[in-house]
Amino acid sequence: MRQIFTDTHCHTVASTHAYSTVHDHVAQARKIGLQLFVLTDHAPPMPDAPHFWHFGNRRVIPRVVDGIAILRGMEANIESVSGSISVPEKLYPILDLVIASFHEPVFEPSGIATNTEAMINTILSGRCQIIGHPGNPNFPIDVNAVVSAAKESNVLLEINNSSFNGSRQGSSENCRAILEAIGKQDWKISFASDAHIAFDLGKFDDCLRLCREVGFPLEKVATRTPRQLLAFLAEHDKAVALELDDWCQALP
Ligand SMILES: [Zn+2]
Ligand SMILES: [Zn+2]
Repeated sequence: MRQIFTDTHCHTVASTHAYSTVHDHVAQARKIGLQLFVLTDHAPPMPDAPHFWHFGNRRVIPRVVDGIAILRGMEANIESVSGSISVPEKLYPILDLVIASFHEPVFEPSGIATNTEAMINTILSGRCQIIGHPGNPNFPIDVNAVVSAAKESNVLLEINNSSFNGSRQGSSENCRAILEAIGKQDWKISFASDAHIAFDLGKFDDCLRLCREVGFPLEKVATRTPRQLLAFLAEHDKAVALELDDWCQALP
């Protein structure tokens, strides 16, 4: 029985180390009962990222295909201690959701003070809605300080299912600490598959297990239903919330 109905983080063939198309993701979403997913291909200067034009032209992708809502997002890079993510200014209004993440090719892993400062400044910049895979052990952070900044700025921290399955090895304990801190500070989280192939879309087994172990209630997963996710995006003045309102109302 599916418990989480949106996936805010997946990659298509536009990120060259990923292997599925938009169509593949739609077919998989239908198969597994996922109602909405967000396309979050990598942004330059990641070596495998598409040109920024890729993001600008996303308007050709229908809002809803075969009953599945498709959001136009991006996985941008935390680039500097000042919190800049280097996305062209004119793109922000047409992006439904921006994830900002530490990636080794873009931001050299540093000490905890530098990483924390960069992440908090990115949160405070108002340019992203989610911090991607904050449990990466290559980028240790002051968890309590980051959670506090995230709550203050209405930004979500992500629990990334692929961090338990090969990527970013050693994330598990950090993700647990993040989840516990979010519980203590009464904030919300997002779940992500970070699928690089459609077969992984909507897979949250390890996120769900961690929530059970920590006693974190699924009601506080802001990405649990399209209604919750779109309400969150409305708080960030994202037009998609209104554009998908009828679709959302008609959901079973
Ligand atoms: Zn990433
Ligand atoms: Zn990713």
